[in-house]
Amino acid sequence: MNFDLEPKYLAIQGQARDLARAVEPIASQADEMSELHPGVLAALRQSGLSDLMVPSAYGGRFERPDPLAICLVREILMGTSSHLDSLFALQGIGSYAISVGGSEAQRAEWLPKIAKAEALGALALTEEDVGSDLKRVATELTEADGILKLNGSKSFISNGGAADFYLTFAKEQAGYSMVLVPASVKGLATSPTPVIMAPHVLAELRFRNVELPASARLGEPGRGLDLVLATLAVFRVSVAGAACGLARAALEEAVRHTRTRIQFGRPLAKLGPVAQMLADSWTELEMAQLLTYRAASYAVHDAAAALPHSSMAKLAATEAACKIVDRCVQMMGRFGLIRNSKIERLYRQARPMRIYEGASEVLRLGIAKQLTEEVR
Ligand SMILES: Cc1cc2nc3c(=O)[nH]c(=O)nc-3n(C[C@H](O)[C@H](O)[C@H](O)COP(=O)(O)OP(=O)(O)OC[C@H]3O[C@@H](n4cnc5c(N)ncnc54)[C@H](O)[C@@H]3O)c2cc1C
Repeated sequence: MNFDLEPKYLAIQGQARDLARAVEPIASQADEMSELHPGVLAALRQSGLSDLMVPSAYGGRFERPDPLAICLVREILMGTSSHLDSLFALQGIGSYAISVGGSEAQRAEWLPKIAKAEALGALALTEEDVGSDLKRVATELTEADGILKLNGSKSFISNGGAADFYLTFAKEQAGYSMVLVPASVKGLATSPTPVIMAPHVLAELRFRNVELPASARLGEPGRGLDLVLATLAVFRVSVAGAACGLARAALEEAVRHTRTRIQFGRPLAKLGPVAQMLADSWTELEMAQLLTYRAASYAVHDAAAALPHSSMAKLAATEAACKIVDRCVQMMGRFGLIRNSKIERLYRQARPMRIYEGASEVLRLGIAKQLTEEVR
């Protein structure tokens, strides 16, 4: 078993560190924004890292998007800016269904622009009344005389208002379908989502008799769920990578603070319970990171087969990140509470990670189901 990363991955980590350094001076400003920060987008474009998100036939770096490479990049970016991490991740999450299910014309039109971050994608699944239980979506796609009509609404959509297109999940006679909706189409309206505890570029979408050519559907009617699953199979583990990066950044803040702050005649880091919190946090972070890298490595070879492990990694890493960042705030005392300080930002940013891309409880159901099927 080889625990060392191949040179190609080390080079990608180097590029991600350069990007994170470029964004650092504007990170706290960007992370408080619910709209796109143009400086962060410019830095992402300049980095060239968006090319990890599309197949090489359309301007991408690898034959197909590599889950381990994406995971490693998110780990580094999330330690600096959640705005940057999300913008990077959405280039893949919001376009992967085109890579695997789109027509040649859709791929040729959008993927080279995604690779250069000249176009931004989005994936619209969630609705006001539908979150984890995706099969209850009410947004409806109908077809008559070769024209598709889309009606309904979507809620909490990342990149909403900033994206150039929305890959929209809707029910159709044949089951569930995914349709590519250009942002400029008539009948689509966006409005702001309420600002959440860790601001995020989010919007509500409303489709009123949106008309699209039949060629806007991705693949055959009824392929929508397959495309959602294919997307999760590649990108769920990258949330685990981001959670590890967040936890490491928090722990580094706490180490710097507890090493230099003297109480009771000693650095905090040498007081028993504080040392214990540092040790437990580092150990839990290493465990989460090992699981994450292993799941991502599996996913490089067979993303669908790796999904249970990707779910375990996402569950373990996001739960660990929340625990670790909470301890870090505790170790830093009142200094951990200062609004918009790095540690306070990380504390707020950790929380949504246990809810999006599969809430922890929903992931546990899938993991347990897999286990009970495997053990005879
Ligand atoms: C920052 C952020 C970005 C987002 N971006 C997007 C996006 O780009 N596109 C998009 O489509 N959506 C997006 N979402 C929405 C996200 O996908 C949903 O929040 C998520 O699917 C959970 O749905 P819900 O919030 O409606 O919670 P619900 O489904 O109402 O669940 C609430 C809670 O109930 C429990 N629960 C639910 N189901 C079960 C179950 N079967 N068994 C046990 N417990 C259960 C869990 O504890 C869960 O947290 C985003 C959300 C956030 C916070």
